[in-house]
Amino acid sequence: MSEQYPPANHPDSEDRSGAGPGRGTHSRGAGASGQRPRRTGSAAVSSGKPLSSGKALSSGKALSSDTADVIVVGAGPAGSAAAYHLATAGLDVLLLEKTSFPREKVCGDGLTPRAVKALTAMGIPVEPGNGWLLNKGLRIIGGGGRIELAWPDLSSFPGYGTVRTRTDFDELLARHAQKAGVRLLENIAVTGLTTDERTGLVTGVTAREAAAPPAEGAGPGARASKRPNGAQRNFGARLVLAADGNSSRLSVSMGLRTRPDRPLGVAVRTYYKTPRHDDDYLEAWLDLWDGKQLLPGYGWIFGMGDGTSNVGLGLLNTSDAFGNIDYRALLKRWLAAMPAEWGFAEENMSQPVRGAALPMGFNRTPHYTRGLVLVGDAGGMVNPFNGEGIAYAMESGELAARSVVQALARPTAAGTERVLQSYPAALKQAYGGYYTLGRTFVKAIGHPSFMKFATRHGIKRPAVMRMTMKLLGNLTEPRGGDAVDRVINALSKMSPAA
Ligand SMILES: Cc1cc2nc3c(=O)[nH]c(=O)nc-3n(C[C@H](O)[C@H](O)[C@H](O)COP(=O)(O)OP(=O)(O)OC[C@H]3O[C@@H](n4cnc5c(N)ncnc54)[C@H](O)[C@@H]3O)c2cc1C
Repeated sequence: MSEQYPPANHPDSEDRSGAGPGRGTHSRGAGASGQRPRRTGSAAVSSGKPLSSGKALSSGKALSSDTADVIVVGAGPAGSAAAYHLATAGLDVLLLEKTSFPREKVCGDGLTPRAVKALTAMGIPVEPGNGWLLNKGLRIIGGGGRIELAWPDLSSFPGYGTVRTRTDFDELLARHAQKAGVRLLENIAVTGLTTDERTGLVTGVTAREAAAPPAEGAGPGARASKRPNGAQRNFGARLVLAADGNSSRLSVSMGLRTRPDRPLGVAVRTYYKTPRHDDDYLEAWLDLWDGKQLLPGYGWIFGMGDGTSNVGLGLLNTSDAFGNIDYRALLKRWLAAMPAEWGFAEENMSQPVRGAALPMGFNRTPHYTRGLVLVGDAGGMVNPFNGEGIAYAMESGELAARSVVQALARPTAAGTERVLQSYPAALKQAYGGYYTLGRTFVKAIGHPSFMKFATRHGIKRPAVMRMTMKLLGNLTEPRGGDAVDRVINALSKMSPAA
């Protein structure tokens, strides 16, 4: 079993380059001419020079290949979704990604109806075949019981979810954004932000060409190699979106660190060749034990429909055991109790066990500061109830895009700033109360006795489990709906959106 965590050329691997930010200044708002910048042709010349001071980007002239209305850093689901929505609204968008597609991303690959809705909103059809394996709901196993719960069929969300490997999924999204006019540059690792000395506002990014193409004759499977001395690049924009994942170096460089008062999870996963690969339910196991202690978290088995299942587990930081657990050993122990015919044995493991953090419940705030907008994991958007992050990455990308489009259309810098400040408010309105409830939930299940009680008694009561599923999946009708929807919505509204 490989212990590499995270692997090279992997989106979870941290960028350790120390290149400092360059300096450039340019105006915000609509600029001197009052016009929005025009889109550039793809053949624009790349100068590679730092931006010169005092140049207005929004002059109405064609932008160079190194400038754009908006730079999005990171082409995961948050970055690609944001870039897509920005480009669709007519903005010139540079999407900078430090790896090259296709590339691996550590994930459970499970997509709920929420994620399907966000994909549909981008014009990506989620239909049987074409790489999608649709699922009908969630199977929960634990406390001596087993229950299958169909996804609720609502006007607000479709009644099905899906699975797709992130290797495939992330490339699909990035290429979709490209088709919408986004200029995607791969193998570009952003190393810092540039700011206006006078206003302190972000004016662009510094970057390094991260990888050289595989050597000639290296064969089709060869990976790009790291090139630490790759060319330095500067890119300028009126705004920068940090979609650079859970460690978000960009946010840290602006002093936005993760909040210790917010929940955090850690999850690991691998793939097994198994006869259980063709499952039309996502499967969650609540029985994760550390000795006699039931842990706050769950294991999952998500059939991928390709001969393999994605198998993993995630834990929350609200238990005493959190920092002291050997996740790989726990995974092995949990799987050892499975029927042998399922094939969850070392010899059937098709990928190494890898893990990463799950930043939950707005664990990095504020989501906008001085020209930097945070989306997805960078802003700690993972749902604390169930560890789902992809849907929230795409949704926050869309919410951010909506604010940015309006902001850049304002004729004054003050107007632009005012609209940008409304993005954190929009996020709070969308998820704030619900995430506050989620924080209470993760604290409660951090107590082994509560977790044990809830698992043992809940699983045997289908009505309770149906309500639990709606709550954990954040799948209710925002208006009207049934009694369960109304209770969950009322609880979310009553909870302070902090
Ligand atoms: C083990 C595990 C299982 C999970 N299972 C699920 C699941 O089943 N369903 C679900 O919904 N969620 C799941 N999640 C959560 C989900 O993976 C994340 O919430 C989601 O990937 C967040 O998307 P993002 O776009 O914000 O960030 P990411 O997907 O992390 O994308 C960030 C991108 O930014 C790039 N990048 C980073 N730094 C730079 C830089 N300096 N310059 C340029 N590019 C950069 C990276 O290469 C990457 O492409 C799981 C997480 C883990 C760890």
